[in-house]
Amino acid sequence: MATHSLGALARRSERALLRIPIRVEGKDAHGNDFVEVTSTLVVNRCGGLIIVSHLLQPGTAIKITNLKNQASCSFQVVTRASRSLSGTPEWGVKSLEPDVEIWGVYFPTRAEEPPQVDVIHVLLECQECFSREMAALTVQQYRRLLAQSSLPRPCPKCSATMNWKLGFVEVELDEVSPSLPVAVGSGATPRQGADLRRDKRLVVKLPLGVRLPDGREETSTTENISKSGLCFASNLEMQIGDRVYVNAGLDSPGEGHDVPARIMWRRPSDDGRSFYGAKLEGGE
Ligand SMILES: [Zn+2]
Repeated sequence: MATHSLGALARRSERALLRIPIRVEGKDAHGNDFVEVTSTLVVNRCGGLIIVSHLLQPGTAIKITNLKNQASCSFQVVTRASRSLSGTPEWGVKSLEPDVEIWGVYFPTRAEEPPQVDVIHVLLECQECFSREMAALTVQQYRRLLAQSSLPRPCPKCSATMNWKLGFVEVELDEVSPSLPVAVGSGATPRQGADLRRDKRLVVKLPLGVRLPDGREETSTTENISKSGLCFASNLEMQIGDRVYVNAGLDSPGEGHDVPARIMWRRPSDDGRSFYGAKLEGGE
């Protein structure tokens, strides 16, 4: 019997932290039928991490419908995520119909070992048909995209070369931590939720250095970025309100500029680490 871990699933394609509204139908752990409208937390080509308040039995099948495009297919419950912070159970699920592009995002198969270097994964959107792809760009393509705000590349749906732009992700309300202490240290400015909500995010995976005031540091990649903040996965143990120093971008190590940031939220990652949301504090 094959044991599927979410980490192994995630490695088959890039993952994207996308909050997609879904309807989940099936039987709960007590054998009772249920229907729940909820959302995804993380999606990849063949699965994802979803919030379902009903207790589920790993191994059972559920039906998920993407309420944005009405696509639906069968999934298997793989595991319950540990350390759910919201208190609402989060579940790793695996698609039983991998040919159905349920999330509305095309995920190319990711090369296995060795890990691809000099490739920047970004969520792109075709400007003609608005189909989305978690694209692997060369550094050169990425720089061109930044310089010209769009990149010509083939669109399978349009069957032609089209202009692609970076796909936006709306900031989720519950990721704007309401529990951030007012006094989290000298120099901290109380955050205005409205400011954060206006801030659109891009799914761009850039090399990232994270450094803590106590000297601990780690190399990671961004999961998404915005003008005022970023999200990343880390093994480092950080708490909401902690000050960190981040260095994201294509500069060689040592050349970049460490920017102070503050941890705003955290949640379990699908690979055993934690996702952290941090707000940049530069210039304040
Ligand atoms: Zn297109």
